[in-house]
Amino acid sequence: MKCSRCKEPAQIALPSHHAGFCEPCFLEFFRRQLERGIRKQKLFDHSDSILLAISGGKDSLALARELKAMEYDLTGLHVDLGIPGSSEKARAVVEAFCQAHDIPLVVVALEEEGIPIPEVKRRIHRPICSVCGKVKRYYFNKLAQDRGFTVLATGHNLDDEVARLFANTLRWDAAYLSDQGPLLPAEGGFARKVKPLWRISEYETAAYCFFTGIEYHMAACPYSEGASFTRHKKLLADLEEASPGQKLSFYQSFLESGRPAFAASEAEHGPELTPCAQCGYPTSAELCGVCRVRDALGQEPAA
Ligand code: SF4
Ligand code: ZN
Repeated sequence: MKCSRCKEPAQIALPSHHAGFCEPCFLEFFRRQLERGIRKQKLFDHSDSILLAISGGKDSLALARELKAMEYDLTGLHVDLGIPGSSEKARAVVEAFCQAHDIPLVVVALEEEGIPIPEVKRRIHRPICSVCGKVKRYYFNKLAQDRGFTVLATGHNLDDEVARLFANTLRWDAAYLSDQGPLLPAEGGFARKVKPLWRISEYETAAYCFFTGIEYHMAACPYSEGASFTRHKKLLADLEEASPGQKLSFYQSFLESGRPAFAASEAEHGPELTPCAQCGYPTSAELCGVCRVRDALGQEPAA
């Protein structure tokens, strides 16, 4: 197979784009997909200060490297979940990466916040990934707001977004469907949230890390086994194999046609948000989800 751009031997095949690339042309392709995703959804520009959540996995590290190379004003945020045997490695990867790439880094350790994920798993009888996701989003938003960043970015890729869209559609969850997309504007105590990798697949970020020599934290979270998003990703991978390009077109069609309808209906019927009585985070109940978890663990809110 020859590279679709320069006709040298290709090193990677991308059936979903009906293309194959040599290494330099793939990196060029990756940059263009990222730029297109940022521009098309008007995610941010060079006047913004970006707080990027960096887990240590391939997606957030690939995104950090590219945004830095594109000269955006970038700061990393790592939430150390406190999971023995996993979190210390992820944190070390992020710290080494940010130091090597001259990216300022803020670390929030959930152990110090009184809400380590293993403790939550032991004592709160709810699906751990849903609580963990809530806690991470809480700190992402809190840090972005408290420190005056104009944009909060995450490394969610096309596969993450499509798996989430699929799960939300299976439940016809209007509130979540109205809220899903690469851009959520700042409002009511929430920072502007963006997902610049929304056009780029997991396979493509893995290839990017391989070609650029990024050493990422590869081990899956020990709590991810059996999670519904893992099952959905497998189903969607089969669909993509049978019909290359299906994931991107499913997601793009949703953004163009599905989401506006759900957003209009939720704006009319969605719950009203007020500040949490304990920490001030926007919530539809008296206490936000994180304060309720913290109360259940018998912890005081962090100062
Ligand atoms: Fe949290 Fe692990 Fe679940 Fe991811 S897989 S949401 S890190 S508990
Ligand atoms: Zn709260």
